[in-house]
Amino acid sequence: MAELTRRGFLIGAGAAGAALALTATAGRAFAAKGEDEDNLDWANQVTEEISCDILVIGGGFSGTAAAVQAGENGDKVLLVEGQSALGGNGTGVECTNAYGLHPNSGETTLGEMVRYEADAQSYTVNQMFIRDMISHAAENVQWLIDNGVQYEAIEDLDLAYLEMYKEGRYRAAFSFDYVYKGGAAGIGYFPFMKKKLAEYGVNLRLNTRARDLVLDENGNVAGAYATDTYGDTIKINAKAVIIGTGGFGEDADRMGKLGIDLNDVRIIGTPGHYGDGVTMMIKAGGIEHGAPAFGCTNIIGSAGPWGPIWDKLCWGGPSLWVDIHGERFSDEACSTYTHNFELQHVPVRLAGGTCWTIMDQTILETMLEGDEEAAQLWDEMIANGDDAYRADSLEELADAMEGVDKELFLSQVEQYNACVAAGVDSDYGKDAQYLMPISTPPFYCGLIRGALEGLYSGGVKTDRCFRVKKPGRDQAFENLFAIGADGGMLYNNMYGIDINGSMSCHGVNSARTAANTAHEFIANGR
Ligand SMILES: Cc1cc2nc3c(=O)[nH]c(=O)nc-3n(C[C@H](O)[C@H](O)[C@H](O)COP(=O)(O)OP(=O)(O)OC[C@H]3O[C@@H](n4cnc5c(N)ncnc54)[C@H](O)[C@@H]3O)c2cc1C
Repeated sequence: MAELTRRGFLIGAGAAGAALALTATAGRAFAAKGEDEDNLDWANQVTEEISCDILVIGGGFSGTAAAVQAGENGDKVLLVEGQSALGGNGTGVECTNAYGLHPNSGETTLGEMVRYEADAQSYTVNQMFIRDMISHAAENVQWLIDNGVQYEAIEDLDLAYLEMYKEGRYRAAFSFDYVYKGGAAGIGYFPFMKKKLAEYGVNLRLNTRARDLVLDENGNVAGAYATDTYGDTIKINAKAVIIGTGGFGEDADRMGKLGIDLNDVRIIGTPGHYGDGVTMMIKAGGIEHGAPAFGCTNIIGSAGPWGPIWDKLCWGGPSLWVDIHGERFSDEACSTYTHNFELQHVPVRLAGGTCWTIMDQTILETMLEGDEEAAQLWDEMIANGDDAYRADSLEELADAMEGVDKELFLSQVEQYNACVAAGVDSDYGKDAQYLMPISTPPFYCGLIRGALEGLYSGGVKTDRCFRVKKPGRDQAFENLFAIGADGGMLYNNMYGIDINGSMSCHGVNSARTAANTAHEFIANGR
């Protein structure tokens, strides 16, 4: 059986760590932006000038695919990557949806899949974009295979994981995904795509960070400025620019404007997602998407996502959640109803980014379900004060929860226990099967924060060809494209992980569509 990444954590293989370690050793070429960098006059600092047909900014999952497609089309391509290795968050991708190619997809119609995704997310998704993505999935994955990308053979996979996706704590009913060799794109995708870049003569510059777009007198895109680790500023002239910088998960300013404090979030993935692409495109006149969808799940203390503490104690259910003031704010069982680990964190994010999960001894034992490893880890976390505390009384517990208003907290527990006694959650309607009193000492609390797997959708608005939209009806740049996480037209506010492997499916689809549209634009001499 293949070692799987995110799933691997659940079944104990843990291959994602290995995949991400590949890039961790590559080091960090650039830190986050300095204070005034957005306003620097790059034109006055140019020390080198180069020209190409297509400039691809960002050598992650989608940028690499765009560069390979553009190279295959015969265009002269320059690919710049800010870090010292290709990959970005794409390194950790374990699977890509391959509807139409995967043998299990035979019975399912395209319409059923689109309907499922739309319905599961209350029709807030862009149905046409979802349809475009899924209808090209087979062709795109076949193209990757033709370019040497390697997947685990379907017959070698333990198909139990498909069942886990369908019936377990995931809601992904349409698991028609191909799993990368070794369980991660860092192993099955990038080494082979890198070979293709060389074969097609793509000029690859690592440690080179794009800073600003060059616009001509008509406001069209004419290239970009970039800096490298030698301190050079490079002016890159290009007939078309494709941007795939992976979103703005590490941009404290933009995240702050969404009410997300990066101190409340642990970033899971590679460094380098400072929002450069999104900032450049908005500055050039593109429209911000405005309703970004994140891959974010709950964690407590230093215990990572997909480990035993996550599996047992982060999903809510019979525990009581209170915000940093001590007030209850949500039905704690909502993510258990939906089988959606992305939905775990939404109520917490809406409540300010962190919350306390409260358990008594009986609730803790119920949630641990006899998992000895999780129980031992929990004890260790308490012993280390790792955002986890135990107390003999609720008053003492309140003292351990920094910032919590003790009176408010105690009154909330009283109110909650009254709901439990009545068998009806009159405040948030939690299902009666999850209503258990907070009454048997000792009592426990853990501080829940978010583990951010990056922005999944939501940089700037694009049209169907991934051209960056401008204000006005049907207005878009002809030669500026946003792909992958930077092109944000699929999901709004919430990524439901309903169609498994959809983000990389979108990554390769947006990349190829953009490269082919740019090729036509150049071929038509515009
Ligand atoms: C742990 C993990 C597991 C995941 N698993 C899956 C999965 O199984 N299936 C799935 O479909 N999706 C998965 N995802 C989501 C997927 O990784 C992303 O959707 C995908 O990587 C987005 O591709 P991208 O090209 O937009 O961004 P990235 O792959 O992150 O690439 C962006 C690149 O741009 C570079 N960059 C940034 N700024 C600049 C600049 N100014 N100049 C030059 N370069 C720059 C970055 O260094 C990076 O290399 C996972 C994500 C994580 C973190």
